[in-house]
Parts: sequence; C-alpha cells; structure tokens
Amino acid sequence: MLRVAVVGSGPSGVYTAEALVGQRTGPEVAVDVLDRLPCPYGLVRYGVAPDHEKIKSLQGALRKVLEHPRIRFLGNVEVGPALTPADLLGMYHAVVYCVGAATDRRLGVPGEDLPGSYSATRFVSWYSAHPDEPPDGFALQARSAVVIGVGNVAVDVARVLARGAEELRHTDVPDAALRSLAASEVRDVHMVGRRGPSQAKFTTKELRELGALADADVVVHEEELALDPAYADPGGLPAAARRNVEVLRGWADRPPGGRSRRIHLRFFLRPAELTAGPDGRVGAARFVRTAPDGRGGVMDTAGGEEIGAQLVLRSVGYRGVPIPGLPFDPVRAVVPNEAGRVLQDAAASPGEYVAGWIKRGPTGVIGTNRPCAKETAAALLADAPALLSRPVADDPLTALRAAGLRPVAWPGWLAIEAAEAALGHSLDRGTVKIPDWAGLLAAARTAV
Ligand code: NAP
Repeated sequence: MLRVAVVGSGPSGVYTAEALVGQRTGPEVAVDVLDRLPCPYGLVRYGVAPDHEKIKSLQGALRKVLEHPRIRFLGNVEVGPALTPADLLGMYHAVVYCVGAATDRRLGVPGEDLPGSYSATRFVSWYSAHPDEPPDGFALQARSAVVIGVGNVAVDVARVLARGAEELRHTDVPDAALRSLAASEVRDVHMVGRRGPSQAKFTTKELRELGALADADVVVHEEELALDPAYADPGGLPAAARRNVEVLRGWADRPPGGRSRRIHLRFFLRPAELTAGPDGRVGAARFVRTAPDGRGGVMDTAGGEEIGAQLVLRSVGYRGVPIPGLPFDPVRAVVPNEAGRVLQDAAASPGEYVAGWIKRGPTGVIGTNRPCAKETAAALLADAPALLSRPVADDPLTALRAAGLRPVAWPGWLAIEAAEAALGHSLDRGTVKIPDWAGLLAAARTAV
C-alpha cells in the first residue's frame, strides 16, 4: 500500500486524492488529506461567495471523494514548526502540497496600510466565517467604498457590499456578518481597473450578476469604454473579452434606476495613493488616469482622479506563501516543479509534489484544478516503485499525535456540520457557519 499525504483539502487537494485512489493499475493507494483548519473544502467553503450557491454545492462532490474508504480527512493539522515537510516524509511515502495561495498581493502605494484599507481576501474571509478573521471585523460605516482591481474576487466583494442583507439571509453567511451587512451604510461601491474594459479579468457571468441586483444600479462611464481601442472594434477580441465589452456597453446606455446603492465600474485609473481623512482613517483613493500603450498595457497620462472612500478593498490577486523546508520561487510565488514533482536545485525532490495554485499560480476556475491534479497524481504514480522503497512510520495518525497535534477526523467534521445546522435552526435560518476556532473545535470534540 502506497501511503500518501495530501496537504490541503480545497479542490486541488481533493481532486489529487481522487486521482490517486482512482488509478486502475499499480499499487493500492491510501491517502490522508490534511488541513490546517478543522473543516474541509478550502476556498469552496472559505472563498466562494455565500450567494454563489451553485458553486458552493460542489462541496457535495468533494465530500463524496473524502468519504472514499481509502481516503481519510484529518483537519486541524498544520504543516509548520511542529510538523515539518521532513517529518511528513518520515510518515508517508509521498506528500502532495495543495496549499493554494494563502495571502494577497501588495498594491505598493503609499497609504496602503491605513485603517479602513483591507485586502479583499480579508473581507472574503470575514463573510465566509474563516476562523482566522474576527467575526466583528467589518463595521461597514463607510458610505463610499473603493474596490481596487477588476477580477472575479473584486466582483464578489463589490456584489456582497451592494446586496441587501435580506438577500443573504438564506445563505450560510455568519450571523455577525449578516447583522453588519444589514446595518451597512455603504451606498456607492467604486470598482476600479488600471487597464481597459477589454482587459478586465472578471468573467461575463459574474459581471452580468452585478446588473441583476435588487437594490443596486450599475454605473458605467461611456467615455472610459471609448478610451479602449478594442471597444471601437470588439470583433477582434477573444470571445470572453468581447462578451464583457458588450455587457458594459449595454449598461453605459442604461438610465439609473433609482435604487438605493450604486456600483460604479471604472477603468483606466491606476492607484497612486490612499490618503487619510481627518480621523486618520482612509478618506480617499487617488488615481492616475492611464491610456492604452498599444502593446496590451497602459501608460500614465497627466490626468487623474480622487475618489472619496472610507473603505478600500484591495483586490489585486492572491499570492503563494513559502512552506519552510520546501523550495520557493519568490518571483512567481510558487513551489518550483516539473509536472507536479517538486524541484530542488533543478532536481526532483524524492517524495514531494505540488498541485493547484502553489504549483501554477492563482489563476483559473475551480475546474482548472482537476487536470492540474491529474498531472501531479500521474507523476507520483509513475514514481511509485521508488517511493515504496522509502521506509515510513507504521501509523501516521499515531505519529501525528506524537508530534503534539490533535487531528479532527471525519466524524469531527460531521459534528461541526451538525452544530452549524443547529445554530442556523436557533437563528431561524438554514445552516449558519461557526466563525471562530473555539466554536469549531468545541463542536468537533462532541464527535464520538
Ligand atoms: P485576478 O483575476 O488575477 O485579478 C486581479 C486584478 O487586480 C486584475 O484586474 C489586475 O489588473 C489587478 N491588479 C493587479 N495588480 C494591480 C495593481 N498593482 N494595481 C491595480 N490593479 C492591479 O485575481 P482575483 O480576482 O483575485 O481572482 C483569482 C482567481 O480566482 C481568478 O482565476 C478568478 O477567476 C478566480 N475566482 C473565480 C471566481 C468565480 O468564478 N466566481 C470568484 C473568485 C475568484 P491587471 O489585469 O491590469 O494586472
């Protein structure tokens, strides 16, 4: 039996485990899927917006994989000082790191760290009940919010800010976040791209959703679309960009509907500085007007604009974090690898693999992780004869406990699910997520 640890239970980890146990030839494989959190599913649980129920329902498919008889989920197990990559190699024939991209990219402008300026990933963690984010972390007393970046995360946070709490009540959004959204004073959300509309990273389905919100109008400046040469002749654009431009063009012609909130979609504005208001918190975002440089990028012009905002969410992409003991490429923020085999000084590091965002960078939709995971699993299985000759501990669970860890196994996770259903029932809602470590671990410990 080939014993493999998969570190991370998000889509890339679960798809890797599925590919490993599903192979038809070679040795039987048993997989432990380890996660730092007591809950599985990674960004499907802690990143997909609560109102994206169809995507969230993917948890059902991931669950089926984790219930496979040769797969074991072990949450509350962090690879770090108490459990190093070298320790894991002593417990398993192979280890696949599927740890994603755990932090946000920096904007690199003055004022970035003013109070009231946050990474969008923190805001996402807050409304997703991530236990590392305080449940009362966002008071939403701002009337105007700026979201920097025009990717799908920017669309998610802009949409959640612009939705009424009533529209989110039936989701699993944590109770403190729902109360904060209900009391929100945010009226204007400005989502700002440094390049043109044809270069925005959001997908058309996500963009269209902004135009269908019950209580928010979308405002598009016709002249900012016209700045984009591709707007004049969208025929030459890739299909996805052409669809985005067409949707934006439709909105530019639309008279405002008098709804209580507005989402302003802005382009060709490069963030230059965040400035403080009289209270020392962020008061405005200053932008330099840009223009196409003819090579797909933009150049600064003499123009600019200041947008008043008491809340700034920086949504400029995720970034991988080094794992001490594993090589790391600081430029691409990934673990160097060849088809998933970790490369140490250009040679494959025996028994160590990567899949998902830490392998290829934070791009693509959830489904992109499936072929990525399959490639890594195929590399690992091809190496199986050599891997099986590595001596490993008899029982990884005993070794993990000996390292001082208290893993939350599948029954513990099921107990958390039951506690979340009970919490929702007590609040007259559906399932409601538990937002703190103490609550999650207390629920997990009720498992027999
Ligand atoms: P992203 O798609 O890479 O978008 C990042 C945005 O930030 C781009 O508009 C980029 O502009 C901008 N940006 C980067 N550096 C900047 C700077 N210094 N100043 C101003 N703007 C800057 O990243 P993401 O939105 O975090 O999404 C990550 C991945 O998750 C994507 O693959 C996304 O599709 C996926 N995701 C999908 C969904 C969904 O399917 N519903 C939801 C959430 C996330 P430039 O293009 O000019 O660099």
